[in-house]
Amino acid sequence: MKPIELSVIIPIFNEELNIPTLYERINRLMKHMGVSHEIIFINDGSKDSSIFLIKKICSSDSTVKFIDFSRNFGHQIAVSAGLEHCIGQYVVIIDADLQDPPELIKDLYEKIVKGFDVVYAKRRSRKDKSFIKKSGYKLFYKILSKISQIEIPMDTGDFRIMKRNVVNELIMMAENNKFLRGQIAWLGFEQAYIEYDRDVRAAGEPGYSYRKLFRLALDGIISFSNMPLRLATILGFLVFFLSLILICYTLYSYFFNSLTPQGWASLMISILFIGGIQLLSIGIIGEYIGRIQNEVRKRPLYVLKDTNIVKKYHDNLIIDNT
Ligand code: UDP
Ligand code: MG
Repeated sequence: MKPIELSVIIPIFNEELNIPTLYERINRLMKHMGVSHEIIFINDGSKDSSIFLIKKICSSDSTVKFIDFSRNFGHQIAVSAGLEHCIGQYVVIIDADLQDPPELIKDLYEKIVKGFDVVYAKRRSRKDKSFIKKSGYKLFYKILSKISQIEIPMDTGDFRIMKRNVVNELIMMAENNKFLRGQIAWLGFEQAYIEYDRDVRAAGEPGYSYRKLFRLALDGIISFSNMPLRLATILGFLVFFLSLILICYTLYSYFFNSLTPQGWASLMISILFIGGIQLLSIGIIGEYIGRIQNEVRKRPLYVLKDTNIVKKYHDNLIIDNT
């Protein structure tokens, strides 16, 4: 198989309105750039006609590949599947909703060939998000950079270009709870960025609901920091200390004040307080255990329904059927 210079990985979840324009813009750009390339669409259980459109494109353009999941597995997993199946020397991850302008791939490519391993696109502004989402993102990045040991670049999504060596390392990271931008930051190498203005979604509904975003944020924090666990311990100590003071005070007033405390209010407060902290701590531990469970089960990351990629990965062996 001839080596390919550039792979473009596009996760798809209900993007029928964007696929034609997206393909046209990328295809035009690739022709303009004149590099050998492949475009890989990963259909992440779309409920619309996305896969139909993708297969139609595949039948007229041999540089286009598709991977069709058996159901919706999530954006990070769709991208991971693309990474496992691509063969380019350089690999681009891009969203399908045209929020990341495809034309920027040229700038990313021109920068990475200067001798970097990862070049990510950093948002100078974002017109897309509601106030709640914007502040949520901000808070999340702030917390993450404070409590994790690694530096995850602010205001970046997964829109980036990586060199083959980075992609190979990334594939080897067998964790099930994917938080790719964190994993890539963790890997190190020579990383650089270019800045851009993020557009609004061209068409269709965002596939990331608040629930999915919350899960992603939690995965990011829990995979990259033990701080929440430590927080539980610290809170535990704090409450234990507080209750010690309370006990001393109660004993003191019982013996020396001849005035026993009224009791009810303080009792309720301490029970609720301690109960709350305990539940919080158990919750935090539970989140970690849930993830350990996920890793231990060793389920496959995703299940394929169909693909036109002949290369298969099995036990890290590439079996090439061509
Ligand atoms: N996506 C996906 N699976 C999902 C949700 C989203 O493959 O479960 C894809 C989606 O089609 C898009 C990209 O991931 O190409 C980013 O999704 P979205 O635009 O909804 O995210 P946001 O821009 O809100 O972060
Ligand atoms: Mg989007």
